[in-house]
This record gives sequence, structure tokens and C-alpha cells, in this order.
Amino acid sequence: MLTMDDIIRDGHPTLRKIAEEVPMPPSDEDKQILASLLEYVVNSQNNETAEKYGLRPGIGLAAPQINVAKRMIAVHVTDDKDKLYSYALFNPKIISHSVEKAYLKAGEGCLSVDESFPGFVPRYARVTVKGYDIDGKEVKIRLKGLPSICFQHEIDHLNGIMFYDHIDKANPFRNIEGAIEIDR
Ligand SMILES: [Zn+2]
Repeated sequence: MLTMDDIIRDGHPTLRKIAEEVPMPPSDEDKQILASLLEYVVNSQNNETAEKYGLRPGIGLAAPQINVAKRMIAVHVTDDKDKLYSYALFNPKIISHSVEKAYLKAGEGCLSVDESFPGFVPRYARVTVKGYDIDGKEVKIRLKGLPSICFQHEIDHLNGIMFYDHIDKANPFRNIEGAIEIDR
């Protein structure tokens, strides 16, 4: 199982690479890597397991964060109605998005970033993501709220983008015109 020792930190070159597409159908090795990403996120949200293994809680993890430059992400997060979005995807892609923007009131964090970068991170309010599940079956997911933000954060990792790249350096809490504020 993955622990914080497997997660590379800000400054590591892999975090700035464009990750490679995963050939479909997935190999057993790639399936194992994908499963381990989701397992980390789930374990990290279990207080007992997190404490036992020193896991920092997270709602998403991307393969580049464990130094694997391949297009894989895992997300395990609930929306404001407590609906669970638990996905492990190969080659996730945003195929459409709203014009409207959204941001987390509390800002974003990242398991690969130990320091805090306060500020609003503008994202699309709604996205549709297409990807392939662990069996290589195509899935399409419509997202809004926190799950939408989380998917966009993880897909950014596949393109070498960190959340703080989106923060306005001169004025981190500048009002984002017409954007939805997500308060959780
Ligand atoms: Zn991250």
C-alpha cells in the first residue's frame, strides 16, 4: 500500500511533466498502480488507518504524484448532498465544461505540496469527464461542486500543472467575476 513516503513533493520534475496516455486495454501493472491510488485516498480518509500509517488525508491522487508519469487519477469525495464520487480512471479527459467558474472558499491543498498556498483557484463550475475504469471500460461523468473541482485538480497533475499556478499572485483573494463560491 502507498504511504506518504511514496508521494513526491513540489519541486520534483515528474510533477511538471506531461504524463503519457495509458494503452487500453490496461496491463496488469497499470491496473495495480491505478488501484493503489484509490486505495491511498480511501485509507487516508479512514481515521484509524490514516493515523496508523501517517497518511495525510486527501480526496484525490494522480499517478505523477507517486512518480509515475502516466495518465491515471483516483478521486474519493462526497458532494454537498453526501453523494459519493469514488473513481479510479485511466486517461481522464474534460470533454466539455461550463462557462461559469467556481472556486473553493478555503482554497486548495495538495498531498505533494507541504506548504500552504492561500488564495482562490478558479475552476470550471461544471465539467464532463470521460475516462476508462480499471477494466478499460469507458465511463462518462457529469460533475459540479467539490467533485468537479477535485477532478480538475487531479487532471491538472497529468499536464504538469499545480493548483497554485492558477492563483492570482498579486491578489490571491481577488473576486472571481460571476463564479460560484463552494464553501466546504
Ligand atoms: Zn494535487
